Amino acid sequence: MTRNFNDSYRCDGCGLTGHKLWREYQTLACYTELVCASCASASQAKSPHSSWSGEMLFVDGDQIGWRVPAVTTEDGDTFWGYSSVPADRIAWWYAMPTYQDQTKNAECERNIKRRKKQWDDFMASYARKQP
Ligand SMILES: [Zn+2]
Repeated sequence: MTRNFNDSYRCDGCGLTGHKLWREYQTLACYTELVCASCASASQAKSPHSSWSGEMLFVDGDQIGWRVPAVTTEDGDTFWGYSSVPADRIAWWYAMPTYQDQTKNAECERNIKRRKKQWDDFMASYARKQP
């Protein structure tokens, strides 16, 4: 029996549900461990490669160490590849809160909005440069 990741979209570390989760990069879905931001940062804090800043944007900055956003397919049987997630599934993932802690989550949401605006501005200026 394979796991349906939409039915059991919960942190394997602390059991948190209804929040953004990350998965291990390049691990088969049936073996991957899903973790929330708190659990991922806690395990990643020991790593010298930690770049997690709580600032997320799908193009950059949303990875926690070697973990990438766990974006399920609509069937829930597996995850989208990191660079091939469709826009509606990205929106689904971003719609979930990041942290249980309200203050921390609010700060994270502000970072996401700021990064999103930077990216949109960059894309707009890039588009203007096209003939
Ligand atoms: Zn957790």
